[in-house]
Amino acid sequence: MADNEGFRNDWATKDFYQVLGVAKDASAADIKKAYRKLARANHPDSNPGDDAKHETFKAVAEAYDVIGDEAKRAKYDEFRSLQARGGFGPGMGGGFGGSGGGGFGGGGFNLDDLLRDRAGAGGGLGDMFGDLFGGAQRGRTQQQARPRRGADVESSATIGFTDALDGVTVSLRLTSDTACPTCQGTGGKPGTRPHICPECEGAGFVVSGTGGAFSINETCPACGGRQLVYDEACPTCHGSGRGTSARTIQARIPAGVKDGARIRLKGKGAPGENGGPAGDLFVKVKVTPHRVFGRKDDNLTIDVPVSFDEAALGGEVKIPTLGGAPVTLKLPPGTPNGRTFRVRGKGATKRDGSKGDLLATVEVQVPASLDPTAREALEAYRAATAGKPLRAGLFEG
Ligand SMILES: [Zn+2]
Ligand SMILES: [Zn+2]
Repeated sequence: MADNEGFRNDWATKDFYQVLGVAKDASAADIKKAYRKLARANHPDSNPGDDAKHETFKAVAEAYDVIGDEAKRAKYDEFRSLQARGGFGPGMGGGFGGSGGGGFGGGGFNLDDLLRDRAGAGGGLGDMFGDLFGGAQRGRTQQQARPRRGADVESSATIGFTDALDGVTVSLRLTSDTACPTCQGTGGKPGTRPHICPECEGAGFVVSGTGGAFSINETCPACGGRQLVYDEACPTCHGSGRGTSARTIQARIPAGVKDGARIRLKGKGAPGENGGPAGDLFVKVKVTPHRVFGRKDDNLTIDVPVSFDEAALGGEVKIPTLGGAPVTLKLPPGTPNGRTFRVRGKGATKRDGSKGDLLATVEVQVPASLDPTAREALEAYRAATAGKPLRAGLFEG
């Protein structure tokens, strides 16, 4: 590993031989021939408006830039064989492009070199590469070119009881792990050169334990699994390659949401990469209880204290409604404790815009203390009802 200069981050992810359709051991002449043929067939001048061919042309030029040059090809081959030796694959934590680790950051492709080389070779290519490497944030995994859907994001919101009934727009502050904006996830100070990690020799992991069947692969502590180290660590993330971004979004909580509901807001999750769609945002909703009203599906509930005489003799009881004028419940004589009355159309708004009902349940109250007049009246009542076998049923059969 004496001279790693010229290794590029994205070499790990690009098979230039495949791009040119040649064998790994193809001769320089064969590579040149393949390049010319593909470049001619896909040249933008001969294929105006054909974006796919335009892309192919760029990829072909990029591949030939490396494997069409003897020295660069040797370095590329060395890099790729190191990579293969490391056994990168799905499930390798922290390896190339894994979802967990920093992966191979963008930005390593040395555009200046490329443009300089190319300009001499024919000119006019600078513009073509302009949009390929321009401003857009580079992906941090091997699937740089492929559109990737953004991650789903979880959040939570606490809303009031009436807001839950009517629907409400809430502001949610979302934080997410992203690639460090300074180094785009590479962990290297911008402008410094990457080198194959000397600790793991580019494998991204180190083997600990006694060896053999009982050895354990651990993410390389020196490069954090990214396989490359830089002359200087990124000053923003101190080499971790990770950053946090925060954004505030407005989320519409639909009318009628229930406590504990998980609402899916399509496309409000993490942004996609390379033109992929955004992920979804899931908002867990907590609804603060109301002092008076409860909720049962599309109906509201209310407990209505009534006196014994109101229940026994019947009467009119005024009760509140949520956000509307009070209504009067007509209790028939002999209303039992716990009876529920239905007040139509005074409940929660349903999905179809109609309203549920208000369910009013009477709770007969027993007075905790009695003034002398009331006591006298009740004793008279007792005398009048003496002998009624209230509990006789408990002792039958
Ligand atoms: Zn950084
Ligand atoms: Zn390492």
